[in-house]
Amino acid sequence: MSEKDNRKQLVVIGAGSGGYAAAFTAADIGMQVTLIDAESSLGGVCLHRGCIPTKALLHVAKVITDAAEAKNWGVEFTGPNIDVDKIRAWKNNVVKRLTLGLQQLAAARKIEFIEGEASFADSSTLEVKTKAGSTEEISFQNAILATGAHPAALPNIPADSPLVMDSAKALEVEDIPNTGSGKRVDRLPVVPADPEAPT
Ligand SMILES: Cc1cc2nc3c(=O)[nH]c(=O)nc-3n(C[C@H](O)[C@H](O)[C@H](O)COP(=O)(O)OP(=O)(O)OC[C@H]3O[C@@H](n4cnc5c(N)ncnc54)[C@H](O)[C@@H]3O)c2cc1C
Repeated sequence: MSEKDNRKQLVVIGAGSGGYAAAFTAADIGMQVTLIDAESSLGGVCLHRGCIPTKALLHVAKVITDAAEAKNWGVEFTGPNIDVDKIRAWKNNVVKRLTLGLQQLAAARKIEFIEGEASFADSSTLEVKTKAGSTEEISFQNAILATGAHPAALPNIPADSPLVMDSAKALEVEDIPNTGSGKRVDRLPVVPADPEAPT
């Protein structure tokens, strides 16, 4: 009689758009899936600090622009009164709702979710460091790496300078940046991480 194989059939490291899509597809074709992410919820950059929050804020900007342009059609509004804290809270709520949706989709597929930072101990064993500081060993048959990317640092520019924001910081601004003399900035230079990319 063969011994029971206690290895996880498939581990997916990274629960961003790449990782959760792979995990969902694998579960849909009948695999037993364990999804691991260092963050406490599914969604990765796109959901927490990328596509979704930026599109929520772009929607706000579009409403303001549309209202201003309506002047040309004979409908004039007084200028907007912007409450940055309320906009941020609304944006965070959009993200939270979608995060919960993903959690439900994973639960419906019986995907096991582990919060922790994974590294390979060998070709069939992972070490997963939990937030609490403990380390769990997980052996697996198959693994998918979907660990994403990080913002690139600009050479010779200190990352902690108050004049520099990466995209994650820009999504959490506490106020609309001003020039220092109290005047609001209406233009921001944006430097792409890829120097070949168009600005
Ligand atoms: C500001 C911004 C706006 C964007 N807008 C768009 C858009 O409109 N449309 C679009 O298509 N794309 C957009 N993108 C790009 C999109 O966010 C990425 O393409 C997408 O997130 C990549 O998904 P991923 O799963 O490969 O990686 P990620 O989303 O980076 O996910 C990787 C996950 O792996 C986890 N992880 C990493 N290492 C480990 C480890 N050792 N152990 C456990 N977990 C680990 C991370 O915590 C993370 O959750 C935007 C990105 C940014 C920054």
